[in-house]
Amino acid sequence: TDAGFQSETLSMDPPAIAPERDLMSKFDGLIAERQALIDTGVIDPFAIVMDQVKSPTEAVIAGRDTILLGTYNYMGMTFDPDVIAAGHAALDQFGSGTNGSRMLNGTFRDHMDAEAALRDFYGMTGAIVFSTGYMANLGMISTLAAKGEYVILDADSHASIYDGCAQGNAEIVRFRHNSVEDLDKRLGRLPKEPAKLVVLEGVYSMLGDVAPLKEMVAVAKKHGAMVLSDEAHSMGFYGPNGRGVYEDQGLEGDVDFVVGTFSKSVGTVGGFCVSNHPKFEAIRLACRPYIFTASLPPSVVATAAASIRKLMTAHDKRAQLWANARQLHGGLTAMGFRLGTKLPDSAIVAVILDDQEQAVAMWQTLLEDGLYVNMARPPATPAGTYLLRCSLCAEHTTAQIDAVLAKFAAAGRAVGAIG
Ligand code: PMP
Repeated sequence: TDAGFQSETLSMDPPAIAPERDLMSKFDGLIAERQALIDTGVIDPFAIVMDQVKSPTEAVIAGRDTILLGTYNYMGMTFDPDVIAAGHAALDQFGSGTNGSRMLNGTFRDHMDAEAALRDFYGMTGAIVFSTGYMANLGMISTLAAKGEYVILDADSHASIYDGCAQGNAEIVRFRHNSVEDLDKRLGRLPKEPAKLVVLEGVYSMLGDVAPLKEMVAVAKKHGAMVLSDEAHSMGFYGPNGRGVYEDQGLEGDVDFVVGTFSKSVGTVGGFCVSNHPKFEAIRLACRPYIFTASLPPSVVATAAASIRKLMTAHDKRAQLWANARQLHGGLTAMGFRLGTKLPDSAIVAVILDDQEQAVAMWQTLLEDGLYVNMARPPATPAGTYLLRCSLCAEHTTAQIDAVLAKFAAAGRAVGAIG
């Protein structure tokens, strides 16, 4: 196999079973689409392999030193020595896995410690750790809102929020992305009596735009709805304590549930929900994605706890991350690229391209020049857009971002994205 790429070709060989009864036939379109892309001679953007990771900002891909600008390692915690030491110690003391659900044999000392760290970080009374952020949304949304109740969500919500709706039995209502007016209108049309959950995100991960949470939470309260905010892309660097956009917009005490992940700023894997609701602990008794799956390995929750505690005082890293976002956003704007936001509102800078062909060509040119960014396309992106999504890390140096900008200038000219 080629180092740096997952090189399996997808088979189109006829199966033993009749095509109309072959459950795999439904993927023929996808297989053909992928093959057509590969046949044009491009590298598959969704099959990258990191052969070696040297730091939060550097890896070796296909034998080449590459700057990483497409990870969610916002605070650069993955190589923090204290975080790694905590993981090693837990691995040595507790072994490699728990072999069970949190409900049964899968709650170890460090699961409790990670929840304690979350309560401290958020200043909240309740914290529940899930196995991923995806499962935190799946579990919280499907468990909170029951039959006859309502979930009201932003049209551009993350897949895990949509899947939480699909898993539950509540009525689902969507409002136009980031539109306070549409949220108000849709809530106003619903019957008054049933309980309602409004689900928002602090930062939307495709364009890197921030929600007007203050206005939205006020509208939700006016209609008697509870609020869940997914702060996956804001933890660690928004608000005085790095709690997220809701803290930055002065909404402490106004958001009923905050969902987050360990896979971004925390630098490991896992998900969570925190809340001050006095009955919050009851979620553990009813939430299927909490109960019917194995808990995280002890080394993972130990690294999470160590990382979360360090994030509480990571003021210099926060400042550096914002400086990096401004440098990249300013540089790309000056070159004439179309970006997802007018201002550097978040640590995500999305470069919007004309079509798939231009996006893939630009993505590959950058990769061959030693820069990895995320290629994003529909259905993950809003409004049929093709994006090269850059996410910054507090550990990127000014010199690295200068190098990134030079690579963007060259690649952008090569594919005709800029003049
Ligand atoms: N919510 C949002 C907004 C996300 O972007 C993501 C992951 N990209 C998740 C939840 C899921 O997090 P995890 O990776 O921990 O499953």
